[in-house]
Amino acid sequence: MALAFDEFGRPFIILKEQEQKTRVRGLDAQRANISAGRAVARILRTSLGPKGMDKMLQSPDGDVIITNDGATILEQMDVDNQIAKLMVELSRSQDYEIGDGTTGVVVMAGALLEQAEKLLERGIHPIRIAEGYEMASRIAFEHLERISQKFEFSATDIEPLVQTCMTTLSSKIVNRCKCMLAEIAVKAVLAVADLDRKDVNLDLIKVEGKVGGKLEDTELIYGIVVDKDMSHPQMPKRIENAKIAILTCPFEPPKPKTKHKVDIDTVEKFQTLRQQEQQYFDDMVQKCKDVGATLVICQWGFDDEANHLLMHRNLPAVRWVGGVELELIAIATGGRIVPRFQELTPEKLGKAGLVREKSFGTTKDRMLYIEQCANSRAVTIFIRGGNKMMIEETKRSLHDALCVARNLIRNNSIVYGGGSAEISCSIAVDAAADRYPGVEQYAIRSFAEALDSIPLALAENSGLQPINTLTAVKSQQVKENNPFCGIDCNDVGTNDMKEQNVFETLIGKQQQILLATQVVKMILKIDDVIAPSDY
Ligand code: ADP
Ligand code: MG
Repeated sequence: MALAFDEFGRPFIILKEQEQKTRVRGLDAQRANISAGRAVARILRTSLGPKGMDKMLQSPDGDVIITNDGATILEQMDVDNQIAKLMVELSRSQDYEIGDGTTGVVVMAGALLEQAEKLLERGIHPIRIAEGYEMASRIAFEHLERISQKFEFSATDIEPLVQTCMTTLSSKIVNRCKCMLAEIAVKAVLAVADLDRKDVNLDLIKVEGKVGGKLEDTELIYGIVVDKDMSHPQMPKRIENAKIAILTCPFEPPKPKTKHKVDIDTVEKFQTLRQQEQQYFDDMVQKCKDVGATLVICQWGFDDEANHLLMHRNLPAVRWVGGVELELIAIATGGRIVPRFQELTPEKLGKAGLVREKSFGTTKDRMLYIEQCANSRAVTIFIRGGNKMMIEETKRSLHDALCVARNLIRNNSIVYGGGSAEISCSIAVDAAADRYPGVEQYAIRSFAEALDSIPLALAENSGLQPINTLTAVKSQQVKENNPFCGIDCNDVGTNDMKEQNVFETLIGKQQQILLATQVVKMILKIDDVIAPSDY
């Protein structure tokens, strides 16, 4: 594609291989883009809220995923429309920044697009719509801050934190165990949190899962669980006060490289070579023993002969441990990763009160528990469940809960959920619209209407009559001047979300509104789509 000018200086575009391209321009481009974006939002709409539906997705190689998490659904859907991809990105950025609210943000963007379409039909210029949306989003942003509340908790009183995580989990498949999982998530986050700096490093929380058992068996381990076992079945299964050598270097005799040539033409020569190899490894084992290690954890493997020797010399070892796990083990045990064998010294050993191997059910699967570590700031959440899909979904749901707990520690402002915050913003934005003299007024009103789509979707998904419910709640908010009225999805009997203890983080909600507005503005500003036509 190139830009050229005609004899009057007017620009025009030269399309290379024009017959192979499709080009949509002007209002048609906007309409096409809007409908692509809305199509994506429509898919997620039914997944919103505590009574939202789950999606089952099959990947090309036959793996099945069942999930309720917006970001995951879109990630797996393999969309190839460019605008639809923007929506996928939108959900992903909410996931990266906040962790929760990935469905809501897409539903919100879809509603904004729907309203924009109506405005375009009326002949309002897309730029004016974009500007109106921008103003409205700022009003909503500030209004959220006004209706937010500070949320008090301390390391000893974790109940409020647990409540918030429960709101997040209540919309997931795992909501049967939400109480227990929320508690685990909060305890895990508090274990790794730095409350003075208000910072949480979620990398220190390892989430491990194993098929078998039931969801209720999920546990929090103050230490590391590795999906590996001792390299030899006769090695001890339980080591107290372990001193651990963490090796990322090979732990075996040097192998002749393929490019080298070793001539072995007599039996004696072979014997010598073998003895040398053995001697070399024996020295390595001795070195480990000399520095005081009682357990060796290696990134690499060693062969059966070395394994046998290790068992004989009474030095338990674990092989093929992944890099991420090694790092966590090093952090937890206060040890150092040793990249060159010569550098192994007593100070580099990690310390753990108890290392034990645990087997599960009737399977041969065993896992290694490293507990009572020198540094307790690395924990593992160990998930059990009936099948792999369940475990994967539990991991995703826990991720949301962990993020919510982290966000609350960073910033303890909350707004109430169940659509109450959106309704309150909608009322505020609608009221503010009259103050704007320009055409933007229409866009601002439409923004208010789009905000209503969240409570509408929540009501619809819970089997309530959407319009009736929304209007009733809205008038109640105005009448009682109570911004906490929302949709009573679980039929508790009150729609005061403060009483129901349904809340979300303020930054999460604000981020949703900002991100959704940004994407919609971007889509509205596209008036020319040039793409290769079908291959
Ligand atoms: P997201 O991926 O956007 O977090 P969810 O499926 O988790 O989507 O749904 C979140 C929405 O459900 C929020 O608007 C939240 O306020 C609402 N919600 C969660 N639990 C309840 C509840 N018990 N009652 C009413 N609304 C709820
Ligand atoms: Mg959620």
